[in-house]
Amino acid sequence: MKFGIIGVFVEWKWTPYKKVVKEVPMKAAVCYEFGKPLTIEELELDPPKKGEVKVRLAATAICHSDIHALNGEGSAHVPLVAGHEAAGVVEEIGESVSLTKPGDRVVVCLLRSCGRCFYCTLGLPHLCEGDFALNRESRLRNRRGEVVHHGLRTAAFAEYCIVDQSQVVRVPESLPLDRAALLACGVITGLGAVVNTARVEPGSSVVVIGTGGVGLNAVQGAVLAGAHPIIAIDLLDNKLKAARGFGATHLINAAEQKNAEQAVKGLTSGRGADYVFVTVGSAAAVGQALSLTRKRGSVIIVGMPAPGATASFPVNPFVRGEQRIMSSFMGSTRLSLSVPRLIDLYQHGRLKLDELITGRYPLERINEALEAVEKGQALRNVILFDSAKENANG
Ligand SMILES: [Zn+2]
Ligand SMILES: [Zn+2]
Repeated sequence: MKFGIIGVFVEWKWTPYKKVVKEVPMKAAVCYEFGKPLTIEELELDPPKKGEVKVRLAATAICHSDIHALNGEGSAHVPLVAGHEAAGVVEEIGESVSLTKPGDRVVVCLLRSCGRCFYCTLGLPHLCEGDFALNRESRLRNRRGEVVHHGLRTAAFAEYCIVDQSQVVRVPESLPLDRAALLACGVITGLGAVVNTARVEPGSSVVVIGTGGVGLNAVQGAVLAGAHPIIAIDLLDNKLKAARGFGATHLINAAEQKNAEQAVKGLTSGRGADYVFVTVGSAAAVGQALSLTRKRGSVIIVGMPAPGATASFPVNPFVRGEQRIMSSFMGSTRLSLSVPRLIDLYQHGRLKLDELITGRYPLERINEALEAVEKGQALRNVILFDSAKENANG
């Protein structure tokens, strides 16, 4: 009996480490050629190594950065699995993992941080310069034995992903995982630009250029910061309508209203806005943003332009007006601080997540879901995996 109990204890204690020897097949959406539809196929996934965790995904939302990567506009190589706005349940952990454990329901984000480098020490883990094996190695292979790359440090258009332990943040049982997934990128990027990077003060005037998934979250960040007016600019009426729902006080359709500068000045005592957020990944929008900004006002570049993109603007009025240009990467987010706060706001009705989801799709229909996002027909389309049925909580 005694031996039996010890035997059970030893067996239980070592099971997670014993299990890690076998590769597991799983379904994934693989990009073999940029700009072409993804192929749904089974991939082999290695076990998590030191500091890494394997997450069984429940939901992955589609972000414009995925589309840029899949169109070859980044530095990625094919074959590739994209997807980086995800949530799921930790299934297995590698050696030396202390931040999470199997069974934890988590948000999975592309930000990874070492906790020791210059930027981590400064309290800016989103700029971490730490070295990770996952920066160089893939844990994915196809059936022909070819290495498949992890897109956007996550590779979450798949039933499982392997990420560094710093990339996951635990979420409560009460938060549905499809809503949780949105916290991994769009929400923190847009909202964080307003509250963490620019630190908008109550009563400030704010312009948000582009009201897609990130822009809407800049709008709701401006609401939380107490800004007024909150002016949304986009080319599509459906996106502007959504911006109204998220708290924009004024809407400008730049396709119809040719003089956005005049319109913004008319709403800001003729001066221009205190803060202008550029959430579209267009370098050309920076010049336009400066024309909407008051003296000593700030332009914050949030959307990621293509590699190699350059911006030009008239420098003389920029200098005379002491204007500022800054950028915000992933909302200057400290994941372990921001994610629980945002969940709290959501659960108390102060943060909108449900309204961000346009459609839910199985992995098999991912190409359809991607196309709708690319055409501007969706705010966020979410891929739901089979495990979502058990874990999404409606
Ligand atoms: Zn670091
Ligand atoms: Zn993203």
